[in-house]
Amino acid sequence: MSGVSTQQLREWDRRHVWHPFTQMQEWERDEPIIIARGEGSWLIDTDGKRYLDGVASMWTNVHGHCRPELNEALKAQVDRLEHSTLLGLAGEQSILLARRLAEITPPGLERFFYSDNGSTAMEVAVKMAFQYQLHKGRGERRRFITFRNAYHGDTLGAVSVGGIDIFHATFRPLLFETIQAPSPYCYRCELGCLDPATCGMRCLDALEALLIEHGASCAGLVIEPLLQGAGGMIVQPPGFLRRVRELCDHYGLLMIADEVATGFGRTGRMFACQHEGVVPDIMALSKGIAAGYLPIAATVTTEEVYGAFMGEYAELKTFFHGHTFTGNPLACAVALRSLELFESDGLLDALQPKIARLSKRLQGISSLSHVGDIRQCGMAAGVELVVDKKTKLAYPWEQKIGVQVCLEARKLGIFSRPLGNTVVIFPPLAITPEELELLLDGLEQAIGTVTGE
Ligand SMILES: *Cc1c(COP(=O)(O)O)cnc(C)c1O
Repeated sequence: MSGVSTQQLREWDRRHVWHPFTQMQEWERDEPIIIARGEGSWLIDTDGKRYLDGVASMWTNVHGHCRPELNEALKAQVDRLEHSTLLGLAGEQSILLARRLAEITPPGLERFFYSDNGSTAMEVAVKMAFQYQLHKGRGERRRFITFRNAYHGDTLGAVSVGGIDIFHATFRPLLFETIQAPSPYCYRCELGCLDPATCGMRCLDALEALLIEHGASCAGLVIEPLLQGAGGMIVQPPGFLRRVRELCDHYGLLMIADEVATGFGRTGRMFACQHEGVVPDIMALSKGIAAGYLPIAATVTTEEVYGAFMGEYAELKTFFHGHTFTGNPLACAVALRSLELFESDGLLDALQPKIARLSKRLQGISSLSHVGDIRQCGMAAGVELVVDKKTKLAYPWEQKIGVQVCLEARKLGIFSRPLGNTVVIFPPLAITPEELELLLDGLEQAIGTVTGE
C-alpha cells in the first residue's frame, strides 16, 4: 500500500489524471473507486471493498488477477532482463513466444510482428496489407473493406477501418476513406431487415455487391471474426466468416482478422477463426495474449505475405514500421507462462460448462420486460436494454441506461462497463461457476431495479 489516504488519492486523481473515453466534468463530480489489489476474479479498492471483475479489466484478464504462477514468471524474468530492443537484436523470450504461438494459431500463420496494443497490431496489419499489394505490383489496390459497427482501436489508421459513428465523427478529416459493408446486427442493421435468420445472408450479398464494384481497388478486408465487441457484442451467424473468407479469395483481397478481443479462449476456442476453419492472411492479437498482465500485441501473417517483403536493401521492400517496446521480454515471459496454464488448467475444456451456464442464465434474463436482444459468443455476452420489447425501441442514449445498471450493480459488489444500452458480460475466463452465478444474479437484479421491473 502507498500509505496515501483514499481521499488524498481521489483528489490527486481529479487534479492530474485524464481518464480514457470519459467526460471528465462528470468524473470530477464523482467519487471514483480506486483499485489497489486484485485476487482471482476480484478487484479490491483502497478501502478493502471487493468487486467482481465483470469485464476482465477491459477484456484482458484470463487466469484471474495475481495468479501465483504468472507472478513468478514475471519475477523470474525481471531478474534476468527487463527489456532489450528487437531493432538490431533478437530476444530469447520473443523467439520462444513466436514459436509457441505459431503452434496454436491457425495453420500457415507463422510470422509474428510484435507491438504493444490492439491498435498498433491493427495499424501494422493495415500497413502490411497495403505494402504487400504494392510489392506484388498491385499498387491500385489501396483501399479497405470494413464493417459497420466494427472497432479496431483508437489510433488514426485503426479508427479509419472502424465503423462506429461517434468515434468517427470528430476525427473524420484525419481519416482515410474505406468502403463500409453492413454488419449482421439483426434488427438494428441498416438494411432494415427484421429477421435474424436472413440478416447474415443479406449482409453477405451486400458485401459481394461492394466487392464486385470496388474489389479490384482494395488491398484487404478487415473483420472482427464472429463477434464485434465494442460495437455492442454483435454476433455473426454461423457460416458468415467462412463466406467472407471465400469472397476475399475470389476478389483478391487479404483477409485481416482482428482477434484482439476474441483471441485466447474468449469464444470457447483459442481463436474465433477456428470455429469456422478459417485461416486469415493477417491476424491481430493483443488483449488476452499476456493474460491481462502487460501491454503486448502481435500481428501474424503467412509466408506468402512475408515473402513479398524480401529483396535487396536498395529495393526498399523493408517493412518500415516498429515500436520501441517491441517484443518486451517481461510481457513475452508472462505470455508464455499463460499459454502453459491454458494447458495445465485445461482452461478451454473447463470453459464449456461455464459457457452453457451463461446461455441458460441469459435465457432467464431475456424474459425481463426491458430486455431486447441478447447476444452471446462463448464467454462474451451483451444484454441490450429497450424501452419496448416488441418494437425494440431503444432508450435515448442521453439516459445512459447501461451506465445506470452498472452503477446499481456496483452497489452489489460487481464492476461492469456497458456499451451504450448494452450491458456487457465479459469476465476473466478462470471465473468460478459460483462467481459467474454471482455476476449474473447481480446484473439481473440491477437491470430489474433500473428498468423498474
Ligand atoms: C480493444 C480492441 C482493439 C484496440 O486495442 P487497444 O489495446 O485498446 O489499442 C482493437 N480491436 C479490437 C477488436 C478490440 O476489442
